[in-house]
Amino acid sequence: MKVVVIGCTHAGTSAVKTILNENPDANVIVYERNDNISFLSCGIALYVGGTVKDPQGLFYSNPEELSALGADVHMEHDVTKVDVENKKVYVTNLKDNSTLEETYDKLVLTTGSWPIIPPLGGLDLENVLLCKNYNQAQEIFTRQTDAEKVVIIGGGYIGIELVEAFAEQGKQVTLIDGLDRILNKYLDPEFTDILEEDLRSKGITVRLNEMCQSFEGENGKVNKVITSGGEYEADMVILCVGFRPNTDLIKGQIDTLPNGAILIDDYMKTSHPDVFAAGDSCAVNYNPNGGHAYIPLATNAVRMGTLVGKNINGDKVRYRGTQSTSGLYLFGWNIGSTGVNDASSKVMGLDTRSVYVVDNYRPEFMPENEKIYMKLVYEVGTNRIVGGQIMSKYDATASANTLSLAIQNKMTIEDLAYVDFFFQPVFDRPWNYLNILAQAAVEQERLISLEESANA
Ligand SMILES: Cc1cc2nc3c(=O)[nH]c(=O)nc-3n(C[C@H](O)[C@H](O)[C@H](O)COP(=O)(O)OP(=O)(O)OC[C@H]3O[C@@H](n4cnc5c(N)ncnc54)[C@H](O)[C@@H]3O)c2cc1C
Repeated sequence: MKVVVIGCTHAGTSAVKTILNENPDANVIVYERNDNISFLSCGIALYVGGTVKDPQGLFYSNPEELSALGADVHMEHDVTKVDVENKKVYVTNLKDNSTLEETYDKLVLTTGSWPIIPPLGGLDLENVLLCKNYNQAQEIFTRQTDAEKVVIIGGGYIGIELVEAFAEQGKQVTLIDGLDRILNKYLDPEFTDILEEDLRSKGITVRLNEMCQSFEGENGKVNKVITSGGEYEADMVILCVGFRPNTDLIKGQIDTLPNGAILIDDYMKTSHPDVFAAGDSCAVNYNPNGGHAYIPLATNAVRMGTLVGKNINGDKVRYRGTQSTSGLYLFGWNIGSTGVNDASSKVMGLDTRSVYVVDNYRPEFMPENEKIYMKLVYEVGTNRIVGGQIMSKYDATASANTLSLAIQNKMTIEDLAYVDFFFQPVFDRPWNYLNILAQAAVEQERLISLEESANA
């Protein structure tokens, strides 16, 4: 079996390792346009903020490791065309510009994503940067030395992590977002109000509901960001406004979502049976609504890449889908979320209700305590859990994983309300905080049904 893998970061590396582990005789040919593999972008903010001292620690594999496993690895090779019908890829060697063609039995598309670059004036100015791969991380790190005023465009988790990292380096930081809340994909206002207030109290300028319009500069270097609401001085700007799938290669040949994200079945096969795909280049199977969604996360990439390897030679291990479970640390806050929130549930076509509970995480007789802020989102009619958010100075983020399991296994608020969780006063109350959260949802439903009966 001759397998060509295009792109080798997380999904690609997982796929290559698993294919070779399970099919030692497979001829696996890898093309990667970068000069490195397996870079963990999630460490960029930690590197910029000084927690991670050596960026080499952000790689967990290398071309030599894959070669030792038996892969034929071609670094700095760009695949320029894919002919799905004739099972052929066309490749340019970026080192000498030579070209080659290669046939395959199976193709693995792990081409990932690229930052969305809105059509703004002044994008070509020096110090207007993107944040995705190793080279960009190095550029941010080098250029930050001379930058005092840093403007981050986009208040998603990547932008927010950079805001904290630069603030901790003593920079003057401005965060700009066109929407009315930070982290809106993950958290509802009860949480983001607290976080935005906290950012402001740390001296960060948070400008929401402002669309970035252009960048201005002097001597070719950025010095100002113009938005719909004002102008902000800047020595460095980082664009963090989202990602789009890197799938131009298969446009018109393989089924995708309108944004180009490749659709896959439960065994990682695309609409062509000999073409597999995984990671940021794909739509995920989203359990809260049973549909497809574009959620580019490393968690999805490594799972899907591994499943490509498991299933390349026949349907063996089913993809369980995702809830897009995420964790975030921001200025002492431990934040976890999974599934939909109040805002995104409508976009996902779900009819939901939610409960929000604030409680101490453990008994009051304990000398110290922390508040825990929690929300549970569930489907009206079935009471199936479809989302959850949890935030505290105490690290309760593992509860987002518990809620993720609840969503995947289609548990109801009643299941979670009375499920067996341990009690130990160092950690929680006789009712764990997730029990308490779900019991609040059960009580809410009892009151609603009483009211409906009274009105009937
Ligand atoms: C700053 C930052 C922080 C993040 N933090 C987290 C986090 O904490 N948790 C989390 O789960 N996720 C996080 N992510 C998301 C995560 O990094 C991505 O989901 C992940 O990188 C996706 O892996 P992938 O292999 O699918 O795609 P990519 O990482 O995009 O890799 C695709 C690879 O394909 C190569 N390629 C593309 N086209 C071609 C071609 N034509 N020819 C040859 N090679 C090609 C590219 O060079 C690249 O190496 C973060 C992302 C960023 C940018």
